Amino acid sequence: MAEQLQEFLNLIDGKRVASGNGEWIDSYNPYEGSPWARIPKCTHDDVDAAVASAKNAFHGPDWKGITATGRGKLLVRLADLIAARADELGALETRDNGKLIAEMSAQTAYLAEWYRYYGGLADKIEGRVLPMDKASRFAFTRREPLGVVAAITAWNSPLLLLSWKLAPLLAAGNTAVIKPSEHASVSTLEFVSLFEEAGFPPGVVNTITGFGPEAGAPLAAHKDVAKVAFTGGDMTGQRIYEAAAPTLKHVGLELGGKSPNIIFADANLDAAVMGAISGIFAASGQTCIAGSRLLVEKSIHDEVVERLLDVARTAKLGDPSKLDTQVGPVTTQPQRKHILELIEAGKAGGAKCLLGGGVPKSPELGNGWFVEPTIFAGVDNSMRVAREEIFGPVLSIIPFESDAEALAIANDSPFGLASGVWTRDIARAIKMSEGLEAGTVWVNTYRAVSFMAPFGGYKRSGIGRESGQEAIDAYLQTKTVWIETDESTANPFIIR
Ligand code: NAD
Repeated sequence: MAEQLQEFLNLIDGKRVASGNGEWIDSYNPYEGSPWARIPKCTHDDVDAAVASAKNAFHGPDWKGITATGRGKLLVRLADLIAARADELGALETRDNGKLIAEMSAQTAYLAEWYRYYGGLADKIEGRVLPMDKASRFAFTRREPLGVVAAITAWNSPLLLLSWKLAPLLAAGNTAVIKPSEHASVSTLEFVSLFEEAGFPPGVVNTITGFGPEAGAPLAAHKDVAKVAFTGGDMTGQRIYEAAAPTLKHVGLELGGKSPNIIFADANLDAAVMGAISGIFAASGQTCIAGSRLLVEKSIHDEVVERLLDVARTAKLGDPSKLDTQVGPVTTQPQRKHILELIEAGKAGGAKCLLGGGVPKSPELGNGWFVEPTIFAGVDNSMRVAREEIFGPVLSIIPFESDAEALAIANDSPFGLASGVWTRDIARAIKMSEGLEAGTVWVNTYRAVSFMAPFGGYKRSGIGRESGQEAIDAYLQTKTVWIETDESTANPFIIR
């Protein structure tokens, strides 16, 4: 069986390599429920080799010798290569993580924009001449890269999440060791070939594949890694924060969410209902920004529920590689088990299951890891389905009566990644956007992202921001240079 699987290798110091111990991990097609490829099962020694490669490249003349403008040009060239290969990369992602081809190829086409944007910013990283309160001194600042950055990513959107890190970190002059999810590494291993084609020196971008504890943990703790940029679950994020502490690394954490999507009675209900559907059933709910708590004003509650059911009931489940499929399988078997357990917890906790609630019966979906689109009404915000991130197609509807109550329920969560507000009242929209404890507030839209828009979490949803101009600051450190122009000798026993 294993002989027929396609093999994908890591990239370390410009060479394609298997793991040092020769072991592999099978990568599954979630629609077929069977392995289709295999990736190296790396351990500590492989991590050491990848970090050494990135460290050498960081200090070596080939990368250091490229001007900021030159780095920018490399990134723009890379963007063109990505655009040319977007469909192929999207198809690989669909095969590996089961998400819709329409979604994955739109993502892979769009990610070129991150490299163009940060390519443009590369030579706009500027220090400052300081005005100085000491007449004889001249001082200025330099903005310098951190060194080796470990980019550890989740399986739901492998290349998009990676590019949110890679584009700014390379624009800033760092080098990288990438550790993709063991559940969906293939697109990343293919993608990194483009760096050589674009002209990046060997060792600037390296990969390590493997399980979290065996490959991710030694990378997150490695003494020569200056920063860990992580996307994944909040508990893993906490472990990474702890692993980074002994060597005082910089960390960026993009974690999970339990985002409130709030519909007021004055909203455009057609748009709001579609926004609610997109918030929870797109990508089978496997997005960090899933609008998994739908807060609906009581006076329109029943109407919204009816409209939601009408759309969700007809959602087409099926092969994610077909363009007309609307809901694909979930990516892993353990994830499906977790979703089904939480659905049972919802039923046991007293929430009313209006739709779905299990595995679809249809025989043609039999091999895939599907979960039915599920809608719970009568949810109280204290129930498990309202508090825990499910990362699946499960919506919890919570009624509210006033703006203050909507805000209180929305903010009563350990998470704070995203939120949605549906209203035609501009004053209400502004007040809600001020009051919501979340890194993103969408008004009359949902699930929108852009390379220009900072993205990240409040509370347990993370630390730091990706995308937008400020993301590049997260990969830079400031050096202050002082120059004394007065040649007289100063008293050495007092501060200068
Ligand atoms: P996960 O936390 O299980 O794994 C993420 C990555 O961390 C994987 O590469 C994994 O191998 C690695 N890892 C696991 N244990 C590790 C350890 N001890 N040390 C170092 N690395 C380790 O997450 P997942 O199941 O792959 O993804 C789903 C989660 O990601 C959800 O919680 C989702 O909300 C979150 N997510 C967040 C964002 C965001 O931008 N905020 C985007 C997508 C997904």
